Amino acid sequence: METRVLIMQLAYLLSAVLFILGLKRLSHPDTARGGNRLAAISMLIAVVATLVGEQIMTWQWIVGGVLTGTVIGGFMARFVKMTAMPQMVGLFNGLGGLASGLVAAAEYLRYTHEKVVEGGVVVSDVPLDGSISIMLGTLIGAVTLSGSFVAFGKLQGIVTEKAVKYPGQQVLNAILFLGILATMAYLTLVTPEAIAAADTGTVNIVYYALWGAAILLGVLLVIPIGGADMPVVVSLLNSYSGLAASAAGFVLDNNVLIISGALVGASGLILTRIMCKAMNRSLANVIFGSFGQVAGKELIKGEKRTMADVNDVQPDDVAMLLAYAKQVVIVPGYGLAVAQAQHKLRELCDNLENRGVTVKYVVHPVAGRMPGHMNVLLAEANVPYNQLYEPEDVNPDIANVDACLVVGANDVVNPAARDEPASDLYGMPIIEVDRAKHAVVMKRSLNPGFAGLDNELFYGRNTMMLFGDAGDSIGRILEELKQL
Ligand code: NAP
Repeated sequence: METRVLIMQLAYLLSAVLFILGLKRLSHPDTARGGNRLAAISMLIAVVATLVGEQIMTWQWIVGGVLTGTVIGGFMARFVKMTAMPQMVGLFNGLGGLASGLVAAAEYLRYTHEKVVEGGVVVSDVPLDGSISIMLGTLIGAVTLSGSFVAFGKLQGIVTEKAVKYPGQQVLNAILFLGILATMAYLTLVTPEAIAAADTGTVNIVYYALWGAAILLGVLLVIPIGGADMPVVVSLLNSYSGLAASAAGFVLDNNVLIISGALVGASGLILTRIMCKAMNRSLANVIFGSFGQVAGKELIKGEKRTMADVNDVQPDDVAMLLAYAKQVVIVPGYGLAVAQAQHKLRELCDNLENRGVTVKYVVHPVAGRMPGHMNVLLAEANVPYNQLYEPEDVNPDIANVDACLVVGANDVVNPAARDEPASDLYGMPIIEVDRAKHAVVMKRSLNPGFAGLDNELFYGRNTMMLFGDAGDSIGRILEELKQL
């Protein structure tokens, strides 16, 4: 093996090992930042190894692309709001799918345009495995591209959030998918002959049609899914973008792309599974079930409850309760992100700790709207990791907790998930704040959360409802506390 190629392969190996170590470190908040940095360094090694090792002759496109990407990426990282993160990830997945699909297309068109002449005869040099990789890269890349853009549109409110359903939808999708598979098989078999006959016009047109059909399939697969389920879909498409990258790796015969694509594919799939499990749903239910599609009042089940049924309290009551508590549990939810109240919450908890109160933050795996949403918010406010707990750490002893402060959370504390087999939430693990001595729920109204279901917790004997924006409410409790 040539020394240049050997060094390149060793750099790829190092890069792959660092990717795996980086991923491993992402599994704990203490090491996650370091893991992210390690993965970024390994990506840099892979990029430099490719650019130097492949002896790139024309740099202007690469430099132009790097500069444009850096400016756009830097701008997005700086200015996109935390609550808009799921759609940003969706957009990135779509672009990843496009990049992989374009690699496949470039390779296909190179085969059909370049003429390899041996002994005066035009021959095909398309290997069968290369051809299959090109077809798979095209299909997965195009589906990821259009599916991710629809997911982005739904999350951003550009495309209807509702699940778009019509008769015969699954049959139409199945026919389209089978048609695509047939076209891929046709192209794999016919392209070498067309190249040998120097007549590639038709196969090129069929290849473009394959792109069109795969893009259509991506759109049709995602439109029947409700906007509220998009974070799970984004995670699944993330896994697809990894598979597309892996396919591109096979097309280019590039080991580091194959490995990193496989890592993204597998981790996306694991994350999708974790999200489904924490929501107590199957992936099939997410894809075909249209759950929570109108995250709103239509879905409320049971008798209609009103404000008259709740124990409405004021910030001074809550301040008094907290000041004299021994143990306080904080349950953050999506409303904390909406209110951007993480810094004030931290200040409130610091005040309580200075008074000798033990404070624990309990983070439910699906609180918020994306995996790790609450962890990111709390980290932003520098909440120490050792104060974060999982529901199973506190539930067994929650009856001894003096006050649970529910900050903009709803579904993750809904007792119906534990008590009502008929509920859509039944079976989802919850933080059992209804069993604590007191629960204070901060939200703006009695409106339901993501699942669209009423919450018996709001009407419980030990529950106090503090209505208003979580940021305002926490600020007012803090002011009252400072007076005590
Ligand atoms: P949730 O059930 O959606 O409830 C959030 C609550 O926050 C709402 O009831 C809302 O009530 C309140 N709220 C909104 N803005 C507020 C503000 N400014 N101040 C105070 N309260 C505010 O949230 P959750 O308990 O975190 O549960 C997450 C849900 O999302 C679960 O059903 C989960 O399955 C789902 N989900 C999660 C993920 C994920 O990866 N984390 C992905 C997809 C789906 P008001 O309108 O009355 O204020």
